[in-house]
Parts: sequence; C-alpha cells; structure tokens
Amino acid sequence: MKFQELSLAAPLQKALVRMQYETLTPIQESVIPRLLQGESLIAQSMTGSGKTLAYALPILQHITFDSLYPQALILVPTRELAQQVTQTLDALGLFLHTHHQMLVGKQSFAFQREDMKQRTHVLVATPGRLLQHIHEGTVHLECLSMLVLDEADEMFRLGFRSTLDKILAQLPAGLQCACFSATFPSTIRRYLSERFPFAQFLEQQEQE
Ligand code: ADP
Ligand code: MG
Repeated sequence: MKFQELSLAAPLQKALVRMQYETLTPIQESVIPRLLQGESLIAQSMTGSGKTLAYALPILQHITFDSLYPQALILVPTRELAQQVTQTLDALGLFLHTHHQMLVGKQSFAFQREDMKQRTHVLVATPGRLLQHIHEGTVHLECLSMLVLDEADEMFRLGFRSTLDKILAQLPAGLQCACFSATFPSTIRRYLSERFPFAQFLEQQEQE
C-alpha cells in the first residue's frame, strides 16, 4: 500500500513526499487505517519496523487547531527515543504547522514549564519527567484524545511501571490508545489488556 492511498490531509502528504516515503511497512499497513478510524490497539512490533510513522501520521491527521492544550501524548522510555520521535513529528508536521513539545529528564524543568505555556499539539515525554509536571501542575492533559505507549517492554524493564500507573490515573477517560512492544511477556500483556480492555491485540506482523 502507498501513502498516497491513505486519506491524509494534503500537508501531511506533502511532508511524506519531502521525506521520500512511498510504501507503507507491514506494521504501518496494519496500524494506520485502524488509528485513523479511531480504534485502539496493542501491537507487537520489532525495532526498525516503522512504528513512529504508524502512530505519528494518525495523530497529526486528527489534530485540531482550536485548542491550546496537547491533544496527543506519546510516552517513550528514553530521552533518545523522545528526540527521534519529536524529529519525526517536526518533519511530518512541517506544512501543517503543528507544535510538538518534549518533556524529558536531564533538561531544565523551568524551561519546560515556560514552553508549556505555548500552544502545544503533541507531547512526547518520558514517564518520570511527565509525572513531575503533573505534580507541579505545569501540564494540561484535559484536552488529550490520544495516548501512545511506545516500547512498553522497555518502560517496564527500566522500572517505570508504577510511574506509568500514576500517569494513567491522571488522563481523561476514554482516550484512544496505541501501545507498542517488541515482546509481550505475560506481565505486560496482562497490564495492558487490563488498562486498555477496549484495545484490539495485533500480533507481530510478517516482515518483508
Ligand atoms: P521502530 O520505531 O519500529 O523501531 P522507526 O519508526 O524508528 O522504527 O523506523 C525505522 C526506520 O525506518 C527509520 O529510519 C524510518 O525513517 C524508516 N521508515 C519508516 N517507515 C518507512 C517507510 N514506510 N518506508 C521507508 N522507510 C521507512
Ligand atoms: Mg521506535
């Protein structure tokens, strides 16, 4: 399937052409149409399969410009991954003019607090720093409509489980969600299916 076949906003199609993406990877074929329709999912997917575009495109397609507060939250285990995801969002959102804000550790909390006063469409965060912003009241989560958990197994391995629980407790009910993990040990499978019972489970896709 080609990206042109997806009913995406023209500024997104233009960005895809500029980034030289033509054909969807298997995980993108499986995930993008479902997320565009508003479905929630839990997907098994290896590193390098193209997960970032799989959730970033539907997120940006659904952004509205009438709200000052973030509409999507992407939780990732590490700062490096947050940077990669933010770069992809910046490239994809170039012609839509969306704003993406990164909230990660080892950076000035005060600067992030100031940044959060600007219009933000998408938040990309590591769990620890996001929870700190929630406690300080410096982040608005009431307009969220979409949640992504990227590399859930890695988040568990790094000990973010209880932090994740505290964050999930602060999010609006009924969020569309997309959870990704390379592996699904029973602990993670149970955790995600209990918290997102409405999400469809997608097994590992065949690689090309
Ligand atoms: P994952 O998060 O699953 O590890 P990424 O989203 O980081 O994978 O993508 C891995 C690499 O594949 C990146 O360099 C990205 O630019 C590239 N990529 C993603 N989707 C496509 C596509 N449809 N066509 C060609 N390259 C792609
Ligand atoms: Mg990734």
